[in-house]
Amino acid sequence: MNYNVNEKGYYGEFGGAFIPEMLYPNVEELRQNYLKVMAEPSFQQEFNQLLKDYVGRPSPLYFAKRLSEKYNTKIYLKREDLNHTGAHKINNTIGQILMAKRLGKTRIIAETGAGQHGVATATVCALMGLECIVYMGEIDIARQAPNVARMKMLGASVIPAKSGSRTLKDATNEAIRDWINNPVNTHYIIGSAIGPHPYPDMVTRFQSVISEEIKSQLKEHEGRENPDYVVACIGGGSNAAGTYYHFLHEEDVNIIAVEAAGHGVDSGESAATSILGKEGVIHGCKTLLMQTNDGQITEPYSISAGLDYPGVGPMHAHLCKTGRAEFMAITDDDAMNAGLELCKLEGIIPAIESSHALAIFEQKPFKPDDVVVVSLSGRGDKDLQNYIDYFKI
Ligand SMILES: *Cc1c(COP(=O)(O)O)cnc(C)c1O
Repeated sequence: MNYNVNEKGYYGEFGGAFIPEMLYPNVEELRQNYLKVMAEPSFQQEFNQLLKDYVGRPSPLYFAKRLSEKYNTKIYLKREDLNHTGAHKINNTIGQILMAKRLGKTRIIAETGAGQHGVATATVCALMGLECIVYMGEIDIARQAPNVARMKMLGASVIPAKSGSRTLKDATNEAIRDWINNPVNTHYIIGSAIGPHPYPDMVTRFQSVISEEIKSQLKEHEGRENPDYVVACIGGGSNAAGTYYHFLHEEDVNIIAVEAAGHGVDSGESAATSILGKEGVIHGCKTLLMQTNDGQITEPYSISAGLDYPGVGPMHAHLCKTGRAEFMAITDDDAMNAGLELCKLEGIIPAIESSHALAIFEQKPFKPDDVVVVSLSGRGDKDLQNYIDYFKI
């Protein structure tokens, strides 16, 4: 079985590029060039240097001793929370800004929901001195004031999407319209392992530094490169794709994907796409998607803004369909408690997204000598108000 993308841009039956005719030249330019550019030694050199000096990589692989004692297994945390800007998203935006420069682009657009990807994009645009326009739903702008302020401080223009539900999908529509109107000088930075081919594969490759580092770090800790399990939360699926990448074809490594069950999988308020989703097209690719019987996208819900997405990347749809990955759904309550537990046991305040991945230990027993690597995708600073409100701190 092949779990990587094929030449046509598919993971099994999922993926592809379902885009308006007018977008075809932009996506085709990227498709023809991305692998070539990424293979250039000068690209590799600049990417790795920035990951080291600017992002702070390699991120530590930390053996969580007290957490491991509590669950009677060996738990390692891959500390993406320690990256510059507080999560894994910067790995991808660094890669894409270098790609944009190599393709001669001078103007960057992005869409953002909670604002995390917008901040990571504004950051690298400031770093490279490129114009940055971030589309964001009007409702999200009101809900995410600190991230809007960050983007503005970093020099980005934040443009409100005022149509439809005035949230992420409307911002995406605006970004696509912009790209159609500015095909020559503009690159569109997508923030997760989604979108039309080649985006899922390109984003996955930029994030694959996570599993590359896990291999050498685990060798130091445990004398072997492969853990028994790799675990990551899934919104669109970029931290997960990076965490799994170098283990996809290692049969002895079990893969666990953690989705947000919100108020419960059957509550009508969740983002558990692998259970509730059916095949459909979203953001330019064919994948699993939460939708009504007549194909309207269902509003997703999760307490965590980063997991509040009605689809999953096509790679993950394929991992689900083939059974390569085990999918688990974690409720808001279980995630919040797991997040607070990590604070008390390890002195680390995790992002609520990452707390979903930590919550699996209450649900699934592991053996004492199992080595379980969990992607700690981000830090909890951005979620402080949520934690305060939830626990009445
Ligand atoms: C954005 C985000 C996620 C979800 O995005 P993926 O593309 O699924 O990784 C997870 N964790 C954190 C901390 C995030 O900021």
